[in-house]
Amino acid sequence: MRLKFWGTRGSIPSPGCGREYYGGNTPCLELITSSGLQIIVDAGTGVRELGNYMVANNIVAKNSYLFLTHFHWDHIQGLPFFVPAYTLGNEFFVVGVEEDKETLRQIVSSQMKPPYFPVGFEAIENQLNFLNLFPNGSEIEGIKVYFTHTNHPQKTLAFRFEEGRKTVTFMTDCELSSHAKDARPIEFFAEFCKDSDYLIVDAQFTEQELCNRSGWGHSSNMDALKLASLSRSKTLILFHHDPNHDDELIDRMVKDVISSANEKKIDIACFAARDYDSFDI
Ligand SMILES: [Zn+2]
Repeated sequence: MRLKFWGTRGSIPSPGCGREYYGGNTPCLELITSSGLQIIVDAGTGVRELGNYMVANNIVAKNSYLFLTHFHWDHIQGLPFFVPAYTLGNEFFVVGVEEDKETLRQIVSSQMKPPYFPVGFEAIENQLNFLNLFPNGSEIEGIKVYFTHTNHPQKTLAFRFEEGRKTVTFMTDCELSSHAKDARPIEFFAEFCKDSDYLIVDAQFTEQELCNRSGWGHSSNMDALKLASLSRSKTLILFHHDPNHDDELIDRMVKDVISSANEKKIDIACFAARDYDSFDI
């Protein structure tokens, strides 16, 4: 598998001074499996860049998948600017959670209604198919996919992808230390993430910031480390960077995680996700 980050910032795009290293695009990552299957997770502003790359390199989407964790703006706002979705001959399977009264198609189409956007959903709908995942796991061209709901104000999914003996788990927009009465404990999520080779986790806040942001649906860098440790994951990738955090602060959050892991003798690699970084798994 090959993993590439196209957008790593949470909440709102945040380009500008001091953010040149990690970037300002909102969430989008891409997995290319050994068989060449393209899996995109989330359609934040980073998906626009992915689309431009696909067009520039004549990449046709044949049976590509788009997994949507949820529908807060930062995770869908790039879709109307994703050029391959407008191109006849491309085919995407869109996967995501349904709300009580609306289908996935209705939710995804609603952001392209007037007065929000000048082009209607009919311009892209022929290229999109909508699918549901099976609660006990699905298999797509040799890739096993599992999901679970996170602790977040809006229904949100985390995804676990397994190819052979390699596992990537993506858990953004999750408050791991939530005290809400229906919240799941971190041990529950550790079981879902167990033995991940790459664990990509919401780490929007520092510990101090999290004190005043209870109920917002996000975690601290130290919560992310706790999850990585409990799940015995090999590499922790901090994700969903706060729009108010500059490169220096994100670097410091990584350093704090590494120091804490060393102190507690937790054997783990850690870095922060960065727009356009890619690596083989
Ligand atoms: Zn978000």
